[in-house]
Amino acid sequence: MVSARKGKVLVVEDNVMNKILVKEILNLHGYEVIEAATGEEAVEMALSGKPDIVLMDVNLPGMDGVAATRAIKDTEGFEGMPVVAITASAMKGDEEKFMGSGFDGYIPKPVDVAVLLDSIERALRQRKPG
Ligand code: MN
Repeated sequence: MVSARKGKVLVVEDNVMNKILVKEILNLHGYEVIEAATGEEAVEMALSGKPDIVLMDVNLPGMDGVAATRAIKDTEGFEGMPVVAITASAMKGDEEKFMGSGFDGYIPKPVDVAVLLDSIERALRQRKPG
């Protein structure tokens, strides 16, 4: 099986089943996947693993996804890293709230495969240089 490397995705998710599901979908569609299960781990992996994009669960034990995203983007050289929020809270107005929290996109749970792939591709296209 030959597929061009589309990019490296850091999947941050504390729920093991959700993480496996997202990882399988992304692998199937040609993305390389690295993982983190806590906010602290997410920051560490984002800085050391050099992903092209981060999929960030918002509800995490300890440091949550909003704080982890802020920590990543406050780091010199990582200001432009695309971070897309994944969250079960899908109330009206949430998208605006998350975009205002520094996220580059928003995927509601349960994760829809087409929405997931589209959100990643869109965030990668809009990525700022550097
Ligand atoms: Mn969670």
